[in-house]
Amino acid sequence: RAKEDGRNNYKFYTENMNKRALERLEMENNLRKALEKKELFIVYQPRINLKTSRLVGAEALLRWKQPTLGLVSPVEFIPVAEETGLIHPIGKWILYSACKQAKKWYDNGYSDFKVSVNISAVQFQKEGLVDIVREVLLETQLTPRMLELEITENTIMQNTERTVETIQELKEMGIEISIDDFGTGFSSLSYIKEFDSDNLKIDKSFIRDIGLSASNESIICAIISMAHSLGMSIIAEGVETIEQLEFLEDSDCDEVQGYLFSKPVSPEEFTALLHNRTIPTNPSNTYVG
Ligand code: C2E
Ligand code: MG
Ligand code: MG
Ligand code: MG
Repeated sequence: RAKEDGRNNYKFYTENMNKRALERLEMENNLRKALEKKELFIVYQPRINLKTSRLVGAEALLRWKQPTLGLVSPVEFIPVAEETGLIHPIGKWILYSACKQAKKWYDNGYSDFKVSVNISAVQFQKEGLVDIVREVLLETQLTPRMLELEITENTIMQNTERTVETIQELKEMGIEISIDDFGTGFSSLSYIKEFDSDNLKIDKSFIRDIGLSASNESIICAIISMAHSLGMSIIAEGVETIEQLEFLEDSDCDEVQGYLFSKPVSPEEFTALLHNRTIPTNPSNTYVG
């Protein structure tokens, strides 16, 4: 009896494994075709300066609408793209498309804000990123000061020396650099300082716990004041409530991004936001996907 159960468990286990492996393979195959089938698109989430309440930036976020699966989250498909190397053509496409969009906004008179593009670790570590960025800027004719690249804390913890060099070369082109998801890795601010990045984005896990944990709030305050003393701006991501917003204002945070202001939107919707330039808080946004 026990033996039989064991066999059934094993059977169940391998069936599950096979199912997962198949799903994975299917995603890989679908992702290979996604670019040419035009299933990928970009949405833009506003970044707001807390002192002026003005819209100062947009984060470009990738979306994949797969015909049978519907909307697939980047959290699911970016890792697959990284493992298969598909991140290289996809990443270049995102960079090009976001720069082209930014140039359109520039041409329409919206020139004093930035578009930020996420660069994956695999993309960042590959030789030639700086050339790709230079080429894209040349092709799209976008002024470099309107482009920002987001690199995660985990990315900069790999291959330190080359990372410092690459960031330096990008900065010399006039592009801004942000460290994304700060606080999720195990680096310290003194380590971060070596990379000379312009901005630091505090991970949304810290913002979520505002009002729930006093020690978490002390950490946020410490990160903000240390980042400032190192000459970096601070952006809080994942701001969903008025309470979080007020805490961040009191703590001298520079910029915020989150559903409280707006979820990521289409380029057309973003143009409408740019037209008004300030965004009212809207707590009901929080419940929009
Ligand atoms: P990220 O770069 O840290 O992006 C912020 C994520 O937080 C986005 O999720 C955004 O939609 C979400 N977010 C914004 N405001 C709120 C809020 O108030 N509450 C909550 N709970 N979430 C909020 P998204 O678009 O699903 O992207 C997830 C991650 O996937 C990104 O994290 C980034 O690591 C990766 N990703 C997305 N687009 C790209 C891309 O174009 N290239 C690369 N390499 N990675 C990307
Ligand atoms: Mg980001
Ligand atoms: Mg982040
Ligand atoms: Mg800045």
